[in-house]
Amino acid sequence: MNYSSAFIPTLREVPADAVIASHRLMFRAGLLRKLANGLFTYLPLGLRSFRKVEQIIRDEMNAAGALEIKPSVVVPAELWKESGRWDAMGESLLRVKNRLDNDFVVSPTAEEAFTATVRDELSSYRQLPVNLYQINTKFRDEIRPRYGVMRGREFTMKDAYSWHADDKSLDETYTAMGRAYRRIFKRCGLSVIPVKADSGAMGGSGSEEFMVESEVGDNTLILCKKCDYAANVEKADCASDYSKETGTNTPPYEKIDTPNIKTIDELCTFLKTEPKNFIKTLIYRAVNVELDLSSAPGCSKLDRKKPSTDAPEVYPVAYFAVAIRGDLDVNEVKLASILKASEAALATDSDVERLTGAPVGFAGPVGLANLPLIIDNTVTGMSNAVTGALAKDLHYKNVSYERDFEAWIVEDIRTVKAGDNCSVCGGELYTKMGNELGHIFKLGYKYTKSMNVSYLDENGKSQIPTMGCYGIGVDRTLASVIEEHNDEAGIVWPMSIAPYHVIIVPIKYDGEAKTAADKLAGELANNGIEVLLDDRGERPGVKFNDADLLGIPFRVVIGDKGLAASPAQIEIKRRNEKENRNVDLDKAAAELTEKIREELAQLNA
Ligand code: ATP
Ligand code: MG
Repeated sequence: MNYSSAFIPTLREVPADAVIASHRLMFRAGLLRKLANGLFTYLPLGLRSFRKVEQIIRDEMNAAGALEIKPSVVVPAELWKESGRWDAMGESLLRVKNRLDNDFVVSPTAEEAFTATVRDELSSYRQLPVNLYQINTKFRDEIRPRYGVMRGREFTMKDAYSWHADDKSLDETYTAMGRAYRRIFKRCGLSVIPVKADSGAMGGSGSEEFMVESEVGDNTLILCKKCDYAANVEKADCASDYSKETGTNTPPYEKIDTPNIKTIDELCTFLKTEPKNFIKTLIYRAVNVELDLSSAPGCSKLDRKKPSTDAPEVYPVAYFAVAIRGDLDVNEVKLASILKASEAALATDSDVERLTGAPVGFAGPVGLANLPLIIDNTVTGMSNAVTGALAKDLHYKNVSYERDFEAWIVEDIRTVKAGDNCSVCGGELYTKMGNELGHIFKLGYKYTKSMNVSYLDENGKSQIPTMGCYGIGVDRTLASVIEEHNDEAGIVWPMSIAPYHVIIVPIKYDGEAKTAADKLAGELANNGIEVLLDDRGERPGVKFNDADLLGIPFRVVIGDKGLAASPAQIEIKRRNEKENRNVDLDKAAAELTEKIREELAQLNA
């Protein structure tokens, strides 16, 4: 391809909102333009690299036994009503109407569309397992699209879904998908960190996210300094640092006046003690709770809804008291997962007053009547603790778990922090910020039950299949490749994703240099090497800068001086190296071809 006809509008200036390298470089190197907030156009150079990421994903999905299909992006609302997500999804779901006033969604993900397709075709256990995928457009009306294609509103996702007769078969496919993901990211030249992830509200039983380290990542990763433990903070656990104190003679709990004191810090100063001696009690509001609350204190009169015949009953809103040791924080994702809720967040001040009879800051587990109490494991080890006394300006001291209050649920709900100890090896935990590129997930029966999928087993008995799902963001993966591979001059593409393998830069595109450049380009193209030939009448300095900005792995410079030598010479430079090398013109095609093939083979190994 000749540069002058390749439509590569490079830029000196970058958009003011481009704060990360990939966003800046995708604009500067002419890969991408913005159409509107969160909506982009890939230009020819950008699309070449995008297609390479897609193709790597496709190769590995096919190799792992998944089959590609192409469903429509616009899906009838009925399917989303069956699964319950028409109501549960909230504002990020783009709902549209057609001319007949029928509702549709523009797919943000495709569990419903795939499940409906399989439901219509599945009859016998002999057809299982099924593993289908697409590489297709998604739309999510993100509140804050940012960092270019890292978080767009329209983007491309590879999403695969699998159906199985039993957990063993699901485990096999889940493991194969995890293996394929590791290969995909390696082939893209990416260092990913697979982490344990939350599988909560979806009702699943296993989940792994594939993260890249990023200063602007929205995920906190918890990693162990000693072993390979790695988890999203939403899921992370740690070694226990509590135990029931035995043998201590705890005096009965008693009320203490704590005038105008609300925060734990103020209370610590007032009582000359430490946060870890407090039982912090917070009131949470959870939405779309699927946990059975019929036996939960204070929950008997809650409204329930049933999204579809086979779907579990859902409590649209429910409140809970949550108690944890005062030096720790509640992990809202763990909490939501325990409640099988789509979300759990702190209740408003007025809700707290209404439910506890006291202003914010005085909630406590003792005497709490009309709220189910969920406590973190750490609280079970506490005696002689300080808690709110459910009345303004009053606390209790010498409170002990079990003697003075009981819990409805005892679980791990703490947020793990740097400095905590690893639950596997006891090593010290530390944190990194990460960006999620992919996610594999054992979904279980959530969609197959609510959408009535069934098959006949060997005995002719009707059964419901279990399900897995597996997603990768194509755009985010591409942007992450640039994040990991760039320098002050521009992009430094790994060979597998580079839009072209070689850029040929004749100092002047005429005379002998033109003949030599055209010939070399032709030879390379015959060998299957992708070549960009800079045929522009620009100064050499401009062409070199653009070659660096574009990040093409090999640059070949052809000048009259080298051509006049005997034998004729050209200069080859690797984008990630400083030194030029002189190579005989007539050996150049063979040498470049071999090096490029070697590099591709290494990445693909
Ligand atoms: P996030 O937490 O970043 O919003 P998610 O957990 O909602 O992502 P999934 O539903 O697991 O995302 O989607 C699978 C993949 O799709 C993600 O791992 C990510 O690579 C990609 N993805 C999700 N949302 C976006 C977006 N707004 N823009 C670009 N890629 C996205
Ligand atoms: Mg995810």
